[in-house]
Amino acid sequence: MSAVECTKCGACCVAPDIAALDKPLGLACPHLGPDALCTAYEARPQVCRDYQADDLCEHIAAPTLEGRVAKYLAHFELADEAEDVRRSGLSSRAAFFARRGVTPRGA
Ligand code: SF4
Ligand code: SF4
Repeated sequence: MSAVECTKCGACCVAPDIAALDKPLGLACPHLGPDALCTAYEARPQVCRDYQADDLCEHIAAPTLEGRVAKYLAHFELADEAEDVRRSGLSSRAAFFARRGVTPRGA
């Protein structure tokens, strides 16, 4: 059993880039409900099933979801990258390549 209890805070459904969902960095998964719970819980991908609460969850604790996401992104030094993604409206993968001036394979 994980030493850290998941508080269902929702941050891990917003902050990270989740390739299996084509979910960009720093943007909420479309399956995340207004109560910060997954609306596709039974059909969520394996990466979500495997995710375990850990010390990071305590480290990013904050009163608001926005605050928790900001702390997560700052922890991994991804705040600027997330801002690029948000501004461009691109997926995080596309934004990654756009910043480097190259076209990704299969694009
Ligand atoms: S960030 Fe941690 S505490 Fe918050 S929902 Fe995800 S696993 Fe649970
Ligand atoms: S599918 Fe559900 S558990 Fe996975 S990131 Fe989206 S809202 Fe979170």
